[in-house]
Amino acid sequence: MMGCRRRIRRGLPWALAFVFTSGLLLWSKNDGGTGIDPALQDDWNSLRLKRDQQEYIDRRGLHVVVGYYLGDANNVGSSANLTEELLNRNMFDPKPREGQDGVPVVIPPHLSLQMQKLYRINRFNLMASDRIPLNRSLPDVRKKMCRLKKIIIDGLPSSSIVIVFHNEAWSTLLRTVHSVINRSPKALLKEIILVDDASTRTFLGEELNEYVAKLPIPVHILRSENRIGLIKARLMGARKASGEVLVFLDAHCECTIGWLESLISRVAEDRKRVVCPVIDIISDETFAYVRSFELHWGAFNWDLHFRWYTRSTPDIIRRQKDITQAFKTPAMAGGLFAMDKSYFFELGGYDEKMEIWGGENLELSFRVWQCGGSIEIAPCSHVGHIFRKSSPYTFPGGVSRILYTNLARVALVWMDEWQEFYFKFNPEAIKVRDEQQIRTRLELRDRLQCKGFRWYLDNVWPEHFMPTDQRFFGKIKNTLSNQCLEKPTGRGSLNQPMGPVLISTCDVEGRAALTRMFVMAPTEGLSSKVWSGALMTDESVCLDTPDLETADVTLKVRIVACTGQKRQNWRYDTETMSLIHLETNLCLDMPTSESSIVLKDCVDHASQKWIFEPVHWK
Ligand code: UDP
Ligand code: MN
Repeated sequence: MMGCRRRIRRGLPWALAFVFTSGLLLWSKNDGGTGIDPALQDDWNSLRLKRDQQEYIDRRGLHVVVGYYLGDANNVGSSANLTEELLNRNMFDPKPREGQDGVPVVIPPHLSLQMQKLYRINRFNLMASDRIPLNRSLPDVRKKMCRLKKIIIDGLPSSSIVIVFHNEAWSTLLRTVHSVINRSPKALLKEIILVDDASTRTFLGEELNEYVAKLPIPVHILRSENRIGLIKARLMGARKASGEVLVFLDAHCECTIGWLESLISRVAEDRKRVVCPVIDIISDETFAYVRSFELHWGAFNWDLHFRWYTRSTPDIIRRQKDITQAFKTPAMAGGLFAMDKSYFFELGGYDEKMEIWGGENLELSFRVWQCGGSIEIAPCSHVGHIFRKSSPYTFPGGVSRILYTNLARVALVWMDEWQEFYFKFNPEAIKVRDEQQIRTRLELRDRLQCKGFRWYLDNVWPEHFMPTDQRFFGKIKNTLSNQCLEKPTGRGSLNQPMGPVLISTCDVEGRAALTRMFVMAPTEGLSSKVWSGALMTDESVCLDTPDLETADVTLKVRIVACTGQKRQNWRYDTETMSLIHLETNLCLDMPTSESSIVLKDCVDHASQKWIFEPVHWK
């Protein structure tokens, strides 16, 4: 029985890789209309359906899920009918074999109502977590080459593990702590620093003090009187740390064997490296430990939301020689990373004017890269994290205000003219832009002699899909119908990755216009008569061939993850206005029925003539 379950679980990630968005949280900056209706939350199924995800298959055949963060969480307690008594009750009640080796917890049906109720407290299955022992075993999820590779610990610097939390559950917080203690080489682990960001749960007070005092390694608890948010809480922990390397973790992680030495050894070799583990998935519903795909790297989309993307094919081939090698990433998810302590402060710590949550991961990513450091993912270091579909805590001042403030600061300080692109399409951010005091951060940038954002895009993220002076950015309009290409939104399905490319009215304003925007970087340059290249748009998706294998006679053009392959190459003739798909030599044409555009034999007809209408982005 057990063996069978394990096999299924191990096989899973190859078929199902999730792309998480805001760093570690499923995401959308949408705190208005899509906030979870508390009434609906009573229904377990509706909660699950409320995920509001976009799904598509990326070029490696991975099932990609882009989720939306339902950032409401206001008044979880009252609206969800959770009493103070319940919120403050520590219900940790471990069953010896529950969740052992990372297998899913199955809650008996008669407890299902209570389980749903408790889920609302932390936005994960608290009942499941509370049944799993704090020192549960986990499989060694590393690749064989990683397991064989011996890292010499002698002489490596020591580390301080910094874990910030606000109203975390007892079981998840302490399972994080125990997993660190159980699976880190003693010589590398100087201390664990817990920073309590003004939690109100009573069990996180004296009870926690007493518990950690008995642990075999020093665990210090720092407490903030007022809610300061994760950014300032991490700074507080970092300032108190005495280890040479800072290792930040969220308060609901589980470290697996080998995790720490793989991070520390890279930092020890070069103190300007910021090193992230592979972030595995602890299911928010079953607490199963699910190994995730190693070859994802982090970047962001046009809204400055963190995104995972897949590595390019040549890169994968190069890496196959030594899969244990760390690889560079343009951005990090933000919750889990190791960084030399003196380098962290030399580089300016964090931006202390950022509130509560969000944006700090991009800020640090840009700062590290632009100011001479690097960020990488160590594939032999695996740490599980509970990814949530929504946030359980309050955002004092409003989710939207906080997120736009943090992102506006990122854009203002680090993105040069690309800040205009961000503000143009995020009017909400403009509202908070002018009140930002950024002088000290700009001075820091100056003092560190940091490079510009242009350099970052060219050198750190050459696959990016941002507009540049050398690229076309704008709408692609059909001369017959006067309609524009449109990137589909919403769900795709398994065989229609992100869905067919649509065509609809060009006359939309503001944010809605973004789905009509395409980017083309002609290899010949913008001034030449013909342009060839990929037709990219937000989220790193590109116009791709119809599925030629299935007898899809309509030859609908699809939009899928950009790969740089020939099948995504197009040629636009600025004089004849035809748009040719290079691999098939067919022309982009209006749909015959429905609204999805197609490829057809090239003819001299208005339905095959397209105007590339530039849109000013700065
Ligand atoms: N956190 C905090 N103060 C806050 C918000 C978050 O200390 O105001 C902590 C939180 O408890 C967690 C970490 O910061 O340990 C990251 O937050 P979260 O897990 O909600 O972010 P996600 O992983 O969902 O992106
Ligand atoms: Mn988290």
